[in-house]
Amino acid sequence: MIRTQKVMVRLDDGDWLCLPVHRHHSFGSDTYLAKSHALFCPSCQTVWAILKFVDDTEVWPVAQFCENCDPKASVLYSPWYPVPGSLLVEEGWGVIDESLLAVLPEQFLKREFNLHLKAYS
Ligand SMILES: [Zn+2]
Repeated sequence: MIRTQKVMVRLDDGDWLCLPVHRHHSFGSDTYLAKSHALFCPSCQTVWAILKFVDDTEVWPVAQFCENCDPKASVLYSPWYPVPGSLLVEEGWGVIDESLLAVLPEQFLKREFNLHLKAYS
């Protein structure tokens, strides 16, 4: 099923960039249903992104580091944390929300590319 999801990212100046995407409501070869998420950084303790299907009544918090914080400074550091600032929420061992990646607008796709380059360089 195709649904509309608002993808919102807090910018450095405090404003929010919000772009809608139309996407499958499932991922992992339709094994899992995508949920609405608020991405909360455990280091700076802010919600830095919201991924909300427009007709969902619940938004689930997910602890994920923002692009400005270093997960390696965390007392609970794990090398398996997702790339800081990435919108691609890990839904389980080795499962990311690839159906979101497939429809990200160019502006967010470039952002993901740059964040991944930074994390692995
Ligand atoms: Zn942070």
